[in-house]
Amino acid sequence: MRHIIIIGSGPAGYTAAIYASRAGLEPLLFASSVEAGGELMNTTEVENFPGFPEGIQGPVLMDKLQEQAEKFGTTVSYDDVTELDLSGEIKKVTLSNGDVHEAHAVIFATGSAYRKLGLSDEERLAGHGISWCATCDGFFFKEKTIAVVGGGDSAMEEATFLTRFASKVYVIHRRDTLRASKIMQQRAFDNEKIEFIWNTEVVGVSGEEGVEGVTLRNILSGETTELPLNGLFVAIGNDPRTHLVHNKLELTEDGTIAVEGRSSKTSVTGVFAAGDVIDPTYRQAVTAAASGTVAALDAEHYLAALGK
Ligand code: NAP
Repeated sequence: MRHIIIIGSGPAGYTAAIYASRAGLEPLLFASSVEAGGELMNTTEVENFPGFPEGIQGPVLMDKLQEQAEKFGTTVSYDDVTELDLSGEIKKVTLSNGDVHEAHAVIFATGSAYRKLGLSDEERLAGHGISWCATCDGFFFKEKTIAVVGGGDSAMEEATFLTRFASKVYVIHRRDTLRASKIMQQRAFDNEKIEFIWNTEVVGVSGEEGVEGVTLRNILSGETTELPLNGLFVAIGNDPRTHLVHNKLELTEDGTIAVEGRSSKTSVTGVFAAGDVIDPTYRQAVTAAASGTVAALDAEHYLAALGK
C-alpha cells in the first residue's frame, strides 16, 4: 500500500512527485508505456520555462524533472493504467498487465490528447502522411510539400520546425487571424517557405498508400479546391485525457476534471487532479508544474489529516 499514486508524467505529474517525495511520501508514478514524459517529449525548444534563458529541449526538460523526482524517492513505472476504483478510502489502480496497486491518495495528471479533424480518412492515413507530431515525423518529409492545420502556437511551432525538412509548408487556418502568440506568428510570417491559406478548412484527404492531397473548403465562399500534398500535420489543440475517470469524477463543461476553487480537490475525497487535465485555458508547462505542486500539497494535507 502506497501513500500516493501519481498517474501521468508531464510537468504536473513530475512536479507533484518532486513535492510528494520531498515530503517523504515515496510516491509511485505511472508514466505510461508510450507517452512517458507527456507532450513536451514531442516539442523542440522550450523558450518560456523560467530558469532557462537559453531555452531547453522539451525531452531534456522532462528527463531532468524525472531525475529530480527520482532523486527524492519517487518510483517511476512505465506501465499503463487501465482502470481506477476511487470509491473507497483505499484507491485501487489497475494496470494493463492486470496488477492492482493501492494507495490512500491519487493524483491524476494525465494531460491532454491531440485533437483530430474528424475526417473519415484520418485514421486510415494516420502514420501514412497524416501526423500530429512534427518533431517525430518531420524528417520523413525532406523536400516535400506539406501542410499544417491550425492557427495556435502549436501550428506555428510545427510549421516553422517543418521548414527544416520540407520545401513548402502551407498553414491552413479556419479564420483570418491567428490565435498564436505574436512572437510565434511573426516567426512563421517571416519564413519564406510558409504560405498561409486563410478562412479554410480541410474537408477531405486523398491517397491510398499515403497522403496525396487534401480537399479544402473556403468558409466564406463555400468553394472547394484540391491541394496536392505529401503530408498533413494536424495541430488544432488538445482535449483533456479523462477516459479513465468518466462517471467517477465530476467533469466541467469544457471536459476537464472539476476541482474545488484553486485547489486540486476533485469530487472524490482523496483524489486530486493537476495540469492540463483540469485546465481549459492556460495549458503551459509552467502552469502545469505549478498545478502539480498544488496537488502534492493538497494530498499531503489530506494524508496528514488521515494520520498517515
Ligand atoms: P490552441 O491554442 O487551442 O489552438 C488551436 C488552433 O486550432 C486554433 O487556431 C483553432 O482555431 C484551431 N482549431 C481547433 N479546432 C479545429 C478544427 N476542428 N478544425 C480546424 N481548426 C481547428 O491549441 P495549441 O496551438 O495546441 O496550443 C495549446 C496551448 O499550448 C496554448 O496555450 C499555447 O499557447 C500552448 N503552446 C505554447 C507553445 C510555446 O509557447 N512554445 C507551443 C505550443 C503550444 P480558432 O483559432 O479559430 O479557434
